[in-house]
Amino acid sequence: MTTTIIGYPRIGRHLEVKHAVESYCQQTITAAELSHVAAQTRQQNWQTQAQAGIDWLPVNDFSFEDQLLDTAVLFNLIPQRFRQLHRSPLDTYFAMARGTQTATGVLPPLKMATWFNTPYGYFIPELEDHTDIQLVGTKPFDEFKEATQLGYHARPTIIGPYTLLKFSLVTGTKQKSDYVVNLVKAYTQLFRWFKQLGAKWIQLDEPALVLAPTKNDLSLFNNIYTKLLPQKDHLKVLLQTAYGDVREAYSQLIQLNFDGLGLDFIDGHQTESCIQNQGFPDDKILFAGIVNGRNVWRTNYQTTIDLLHRLPVKQIVLSSSCSLLHLPVSLKNETALPEHVRPYLAFAEEKLTDLVAIDDLLVGRNPDLLAANQRLFNRSRRAENMRVTARLHALTDADYHRQPERSERQRLQQQAFPLPTLPTTTIGSFPQTAADQQRKLAFKHGKLTKAQFQSAIHKRLQECLTEQTRLGLDVLVTGEYDRDNMISYFDHQLSGFLFTERAWIQTFGTYCAQPPIIWGDIAWTHPITVAETVAAQQLTDRPVKGVLTGPLTLINWAYPREDVPLRVSATQIALALQDEAHALETNGIHVIQIDEPAFRSGLPLRENDWHTDYLDWASAAIRLVASHLQPTTRFHIHMCYDQYTDILDVLDQLDADALSLSAKDPALLDALSNAHFKTPVGLGMFDTARFKLPSKDTLIAKLQTNVRRLGPEHVWVNPDCGLKTLPEQGALTSLAWMVAAAKQVRDTI
Ligand code: GLN
Repeated sequence: MTTTIIGYPRIGRHLEVKHAVESYCQQTITAAELSHVAAQTRQQNWQTQAQAGIDWLPVNDFSFEDQLLDTAVLFNLIPQRFRQLHRSPLDTYFAMARGTQTATGVLPPLKMATWFNTPYGYFIPELEDHTDIQLVGTKPFDEFKEATQLGYHARPTIIGPYTLLKFSLVTGTKQKSDYVVNLVKAYTQLFRWFKQLGAKWIQLDEPALVLAPTKNDLSLFNNIYTKLLPQKDHLKVLLQTAYGDVREAYSQLIQLNFDGLGLDFIDGHQTESCIQNQGFPDDKILFAGIVNGRNVWRTNYQTTIDLLHRLPVKQIVLSSSCSLLHLPVSLKNETALPEHVRPYLAFAEEKLTDLVAIDDLLVGRNPDLLAANQRLFNRSRRAENMRVTARLHALTDADYHRQPERSERQRLQQQAFPLPTLPTTTIGSFPQTAADQQRKLAFKHGKLTKAQFQSAIHKRLQECLTEQTRLGLDVLVTGEYDRDNMISYFDHQLSGFLFTERAWIQTFGTYCAQPPIIWGDIAWTHPITVAETVAAQQLTDRPVKGVLTGPLTLINWAYPREDVPLRVSATQIALALQDEAHALETNGIHVIQIDEPAFRSGLPLRENDWHTDYLDWASAAIRLVASHLQPTTRFHIHMCYDQYTDILDVLDQLDADALSLSAKDPALLDALSNAHFKTPVGLGMFDTARFKLPSKDTLIAKLQTNVRRLGPEHVWVNPDCGLKTLPEQGALTSLAWMVAAAKQVRDTI
């Protein structure tokens, strides 16, 4: 069979592209130098794939920033505000991705959103009334020429028109369907150019089809493709999907005149049943996504071969379930991973060998590969933590329900540790100066001893506590000067995680992350935040809040295990955090917060599956963290994404004593009030992401509205997230005004 993949990581084996883009934007290298690095990386990627034995290579999967942005720019979806900068196409592109300084001020970049349920973020293209959709760029053609000139068997790939439309934002008065005619013309032009260049196939990525399309969506899709497909002539079109199954669209897809259908067998739980029940046309090729493009484990060859044998399909190409973009480039970059661990792992480069091995095995080549692979799956790869297993088994319903109920707890909390009405607090981190950053780096690189680092941190802690007392905040925090990153600070101190040296993945633009790998059972082994929090508490009579990163955020920002369900690891982390919370509590801390910025990112793509496949066990994990706290301990949850209104009932049932939420969604307050939300909420008083000094009057007005709509006993007063990215003076002034607003509104109650 033929082997291919949907796309390959493009940041470079050693982050060359990321660094080159950043250097170009800081004007330390030229456009020609940037383009050279890009071409070298593409060639290296193709060479790696070809050497691994992949038969057919995707091109135009390369991008400096984001493939959707590339497609938008290619088709002239450039908002007027960027167009009127009159910059070169490359600089306009970077302005859209990174924002820019103009004569009149800062022009922010395009807004971003989460790409399916991955850690990747894409730029949201904009459709204005005057957007003149047409093919204006040459990137896909240039890269196709580059690959074919090097002798590679290449297939151009590009985001398809349906996904482009679905993921774009209409900013004017038109409907999305108003753009279809011109969009089809532009893709027709693209087809024409590729035909002229000798391309035999084109891959149109239409992953938006897995997002439970409605009847209207399907008719939009149909409308586009019944117009576009007659234009293909002898160019063959692969309709490529990923990140789930296409159960709603399947019957339509097999009827349309596509030459290939790319389907996901990993996250597409109903992909196989669609094919078994409705058949697969003999004249189309199935691009079977059988190798997981978003998790780091070796593929199970035997179960994959069994699946392929079951499929009633004549022509199959073996492929990845999605682009390998979500994987680190190569395991070869890792020098410190234990030897017994390596055989289990497969990053992008190793996934290529999985595809080739499965292909070999299907035709009876290299039978030894199968036995070696089966050994990985036939026995448990690690020693089970019996204590953790026993604890999980012993859990009963009572472990998920904190006693007594919230209203009684509130009475006891107020009695033991009274707070004023409209209590003020912050989320955890305080602004980090250049010196703070340098200190962390110096410690990380061994230039500061632990004792030196800790003594400097202690000094910062004292200053931070003094500042908070001066500001008059009611519940204080440590400032988190010792935390480099809210994830690694915790996972490095829990057992069960595995860490890499250079396994970077692109998260958005040139931002990269190095997600940990959940290797085994997760357990708490020693206190993590206790020393710091207790040191802060000793400096003040006011309560200091212990701040922990929550179980869902730790799990959703890691590569999960495939040998146990996600909910098992989430429960294990919840128990570990329960231990940490207990340690804080026994050391005199009476307010404990968990941060869950990634709570929502675990939601399945189909709303019907939200509760059964995620929310039920995810909320149980949060309740488990808090269920054994003393009634007098206040349990806070912090979340900072933008959309809550569709899960308000779930949030209320988390049974927190307070919930801090970002308040960017203008519909949120209404929704909370209409839902008679019972948990006291701290709606972000000012925006920490795009910081602007708030005006005193706005803060007062905001708070008055919150009090009027929710009732004073339901309102906390806090910013919408941590302050670590803010300028110090701006943050302190905002806090001073926030506290003043609380006092002023409090006096009128
Ligand atoms: N406690 C963290 C902070 O204050 C919370 C960050 C987050 O949830 N994104 O920085």
